[in-house]
Amino acid sequence: MNIKQYYLDANALLEGHFLLSSGNHSNYYLQSAKVLENPKVAEILAIELARKIKEYGLTIDCVCSPALGGILAGYELARALGVKFIFTERVNGIMSLRRGFSVRNNDNIVICEDIITTGGSALESANCVESIGGRVVAFAALANRGFCKRVDSQFDRKIECKLPYNVPLFALDDFVFDMYDEKSCPMCASGSIAVKPGSRGN
Ligand code: ZN
Repeated sequence: MNIKQYYLDANALLEGHFLLSSGNHSNYYLQSAKVLENPKVAEILAIELARKIKEYGLTIDCVCSPALGGILAGYELARALGVKFIFTERVNGIMSLRRGFSVRNNDNIVICEDIITTGGSALESANCVESIGGRVVAFAALANRGFCKRVDSQFDRKIECKLPYNVPLFALDDFVFDMYDEKSCPMCASGSIAVKPGSRGN
């Protein structure tokens, strides 16, 4: 299954010269919500992610996502796994479970994002459900930016990764891009101007 082709076809993976919110420049940009615009594609990707989790031998009771970015991916994953779905959201900056959502004691929970960068929001979501008795047995994402180590990947964990060492991360693929500061950017050196993703309608 060629995951990157799904992203390219959906204009979710953009090639160019981008100014990222971190201030770095990159030759690619991942607009991960775009790949979920088509529910049929979302379903296909989630079934593949669910297959990886089941093959690993995990039993799952519930999928939980941090709002807002993880909700669509998490909901589709829950459908593919045949389990319930809940989401956490920030209340005064604290990741919380609202809307009557609950977890049972020792429920096996997957925390699902659309994309895992350093895993900060996913970790906050995990801490939230564990504080009320849930057991986080896996993290999952459609795309992994290569800072965290996913099951079956040749890329090693980087220092920026915030996810715990002892819980597996499942993702469909790694999206590892070259990043440069402005002074060492070869695209700037060749005279091109970096654009903010979103400034041209994406
Ligand atoms: Zn540049």
